Amino acid sequence: MQTLKDAGSLRRAVFLDRDGVLNRAEVRAGRPYPPADAGAMDFFPEAAGLLAELKAGGFVLLCVTNQPDVARGTRTPENVRAMNARALSELPLDGLYACLHDGPDGCGCRKPKPGMLLRGAAEHGLDLAGSFMVGDRAGDVGAGRAAGCVTVFIDRGYSETRPEPPADYTVASLAEAVASIISHERKLGTMKSASDLKVKLFADGADKAGMLEMNANPLIRGFTTNPTLMRKAGVTDYEAFARDMLKQIPDKPISFEVFSDEFGEMERQAKLIGSWGPNVYVKIPVTNSRGESSADLVGALAAAGVKQNVTAMMTLAQVRDISQKLAGGPPACVSVFAGRVADTGRDPSPLMAAAVEMLVPTPNIELIWASPRELLNVFQADDVGCHIITATNDILKKLGLVGKDLDEYSLDTVKMFKGDAESAGYRL
Ligand SMILES: [Mg+2]
Repeated sequence: MQTLKDAGSLRRAVFLDRDGVLNRAEVRAGRPYPPADAGAMDFFPEAAGLLAELKAGGFVLLCVTNQPDVARGTRTPENVRAMNARALSELPLDGLYACLHDGPDGCGCRKPKPGMLLRGAAEHGLDLAGSFMVGDRAGDVGAGRAAGCVTVFIDRGYSETRPEPPADYTVASLAEAVASIISHERKLGTMKSASDLKVKLFADGADKAGMLEMNANPLIRGFTTNPTLMRKAGVTDYEAFARDMLKQIPDKPISFEVFSDEFGEMERQAKLIGSWGPNVYVKIPVTNSRGESSADLVGALAAAGVKQNVTAMMTLAQVRDISQKLAGGPPACVSVFAGRVADTGRDPSPLMAAAVEMLVPTPNIELIWASPRELLNVFQADDVGCHIITATNDILKKLGLVGKDLDEYSLDTVKMFKGDAESAGYRL
């Protein structure tokens, strides 16, 4: 089957055993048994969410279960069918295969034989080597290995033979099994990496050395500054600093902000700042400090051909009012302070997604995810289709950690604690 297809066109699956993986098994004398009937099935409450996460990662999800009690005559095929139907209806599975046979011989599907996995591969066009088998018994791991999959053993502590040789991953829960699959994917680089991002990364800062360091990084496509950052960086002459930076960075957008509170003076400053270079975006706060809207000023500056970055926005009403003034004008940005929105306990992603949607009819306007708090926000901005995210160098430096193996990172962390305790010379 697989030889007929280019491996690149094949999908990958996570095969999941049923009892003890998706639903609680009945454990008697240290051995697991299936529940009595469909009504007695007790799905792990986190199972549906975890499976949805795998599905979002592009995996086909197939349950593979041995039900030998049918061949033994102790339960009926209808009993098994009802249970399987319940699993399919309650969990986001793409399919389920059940072996109703018993004994080591006579069929090719009873795990540890790989028959159900091979059938799944044929029916769903799967790359088995890129697929995973998750189970709570040695037979599950054996079947996964025989099919060439990566194996994950959920150790529920039964008194029976454990997988030998051990599975690729041994974990204590379905949540840990899913985490190890995701971490395995990251190691292989098949999950999204920094270079796959569609969102443009801008560096937010006013420290010259830091800006030049980021300018040398090909992932950084532009810059934003603000008076607070400039003051922190010890800038005393605003124009001299800006002109110096524009000489060093002549080809990427850089935002410089006006600092007057009166619209007339803001307009004068904006036109002056805009004249410093073709890559300058003039930052205009969405209101002045009295809360009066800058919308009319924004409209006037757009008509005068000034590129603007309208900033300190936090609501969709602001995005709507300002984008109407910028529509059809020169290139412009609207900065929504998603991180500050998050500081108030609100998830900024739905707001940012709605803002992206709102800006579809105005292609000259790009949305900036501003004031991010952590590197994860870069991926969230990318997920909602936000055009730009501007982050401080402290956050951008973490791009080197994207996809890092978590065991390795855990070890690095322990070493850091040890090193710091030693250099501090602590004694007890
Ligand atoms: Mg099981």
